[in-house]
Parts: sequence; C-alpha cells; structure tokens
Amino acid sequence: MLHDILIIGAGTAGLSASIYGVRAGHSVTVIEELPFEGGQIFNTGEIDNYPGLPGVTGYEFSERLASQAKALGARVVYEKVVSLSLEGNVKTVQTEQNVHQAKTVIIANGARHRKLGVEGEDLFAGRGVSYCATCDGAFYKGKDVCIVGGGNTALEDALFLSNNCQSVTLIHRRDAFRAHKVTVDAVCARDNIRFLLNSTVQKMNGSNTVESVTVQNVTNGKTKDIPVSGVFIAVGLEPHNGMFQGIVKLDEGGYIVAGEDCKTSCPGVFVAGDTRTKPLRQLVTAAADGAVAAVEASNYISMVFSEEG
Ligand code: NAP
Repeated sequence: MLHDILIIGAGTAGLSASIYGVRAGHSVTVIEELPFEGGQIFNTGEIDNYPGLPGVTGYEFSERLASQAKALGARVVYEKVVSLSLEGNVKTVQTEQNVHQAKTVIIANGARHRKLGVEGEDLFAGRGVSYCATCDGAFYKGKDVCIVGGGNTALEDALFLSNNCQSVTLIHRRDAFRAHKVTVDAVCARDNIRFLLNSTVQKMNGSNTVESVTVQNVTNGKTKDIPVSGVFIAVGLEPHNGMFQGIVKLDEGGYIVAGEDCKTSCPGVFVAGDTRTKPLRQLVTAAADGAVAAVEASNYISMVFSEEG
C-alpha cells in the first residue's frame, strides 16, 4: 500500500500532523517506536501554558490527542524505524517489522534527554539517577534529592519533587535561569528547595544506589559532597537524527534544517516539532508545526502526483 503521508513519531507534532492530514482526505500512518503515544509530554505533570487547556496533565493531553487522531482515521503502528530511502516520489521506511511506502514523509521524532556525561551517571541509571521526575519521583518520598539544570524542566521538576521529597537541591552551572519567571518565583517560594548555583556535578557516588553527588563551585573550584538518594537530570534535550544524516540537511547540533514551512532539503519530506531548527520548542509550537507540515505535504501530493497522473 502506498500511504499518502507517513509520519515518524506520535508525539504532539506527529499526531497534530496526522489530524490535519486525515482531515485533508489523505491516508495517514504514524510510526511510533514506544508502545504509547504522546512523546515527551506524556511524562509531564500539569500543562499550564497550552492555550485553552489550563490544568490538563501531560498524560490526559496525550490520550486525548491520540484518541482524536485515531477517531478521525489516522493509523498508529508501534514499530522501530531501521532504515529509510526518501529520495524520489516513492519514499520507503523500513521498520523492524514492516516496509512502509508513502508519497510524503513527515519526520516528528522529537528530541531526547541529554546526559550529563559524568562518572557514575550510567552506573547508577535507574538506581538513583533519573531523567524523569514525574515517572520516578514517587520512589523518593521523604528523601533528599537533587536536580541538575536551570531550564523549565529542571525548575518544574523541582516543584514537583518538593511536594513529596524531604529536600530538593537545585544544582545549576550558572546563577541565572532559562526557566520562565513565574516558575522561578514558585521555586523560590518553597521552603524545602535550596539552590546550589554556579555549581556543576562532578560525579555520583554510592555502592548499590546513589548516596551522594560531588559538586564543584565553578567560581572558586571548591568541591563538596551532597548526600542525596536521587539525582534528577534535566539539562536539556538533543536530537537523535543520525539516521537522517545524508538524506536531509542537519545543522551542527544535529537538528533537521527547516523554516516555518517545515520543508526539509529533500522534496516530499517535511519535519515538525522539536527535531527541527526553531527558536522556541514548546507544546504549542510542536502542534503548530504538525499542522503546517501536513498542509505542506498535502500541497506536495496535489502538485507532484496530479502532474504524474
Ligand atoms: P533547556 O531549556 O535547554 O535547559 C537546559 C538547562 O540545563 C540549562 O539551564 C543549561 O544551562 C543546563 N545544562 C545544559 N547542559 C548542561 C551540562 N552539561 N551541565 C550542566 N548543566 C547543563 O532544557 P529543558 O529545561 O529540558 O527544556 C527543553 C525545552 O522544553 C525548552 O525549550 C523549554 O522551554 C521547553 N519546556 C517548556 C516548559 C513549559 O513551557 N512549561 C516545560 C518544560 C520544558 P545554561 O542555562 O547554562 O545553558
């Protein structure tokens, strides 16, 4: 079967693209490597900045978005992509289970958690080191934990963790935050969150599980050990676009190069959401990208395939 639109990734961008694709009358299949839809937002607590849906949780949002897409006729398959051939009018995407062919492809594979890259991080992964406060925070009820980072994720996670943990130490390499001011203010108002600024984690220590982190002050070079049972790492995201190298243009950071029209350097291949070059990576911009990418894909199909037919 030749799909009209094949979408890689069932996060907000991919599912939004599927909604616009099916509503334009196209056959749409979404390939998702995880066994659930939603992408990053699935593990988010309350979403406070998506217009019109104050207080909705990331889980609810993911469920509603996926249900909406499926009810409209989008098909979601849970398969891992292993290779691609995207040049020419028939695009081929091979997964571990199947070979899919399509007139257009929308890449919406998101971005993944960046690692800190320090001693003990891999050793204690799942045994004190976590990249998802909403997934793992409950394991640290009444305990002392730290969170590393100074962006929205780190500060929102600090708030979330402080509800149940005895103390949360926020370790950030600078003394200014990237997070929204409203979130920084909320963190400052919590009695059990303390700041360790201008500081970097050097290593994580323990026997079976994490018992402390060694932190260095970047201004005076002094190090000290902070006793914690959990280390939450929220130092940003990075794309995983190795499989698209040589097929579409990537920037030096590995993001797929595209403007607001979501067109990649390869005709018939579009990109939506966090995986593309863009100034603002938010839920609302992921949804917007999905819409734009699907409309551009639809225009491409009309142009190329009506000429052929
Ligand atoms: P981010 O905004 O890129 O922030 C990453 C933080 O980690 C920065 O403070 C950075 O420090 C620090 N960092 C990076 N590499 C580091 C390293 N090797 N060692 C120590 N610290 C390091 O990432 P994010 O917070 O995960 O957010 C990702 C995107 O999602 C952003 O666009 C964000 O706005 C968005 N988001 C939005 C919301 C919301 O709107 N409610 C919630 C969550 C995420 P520097 O500041 O010094 O660079």
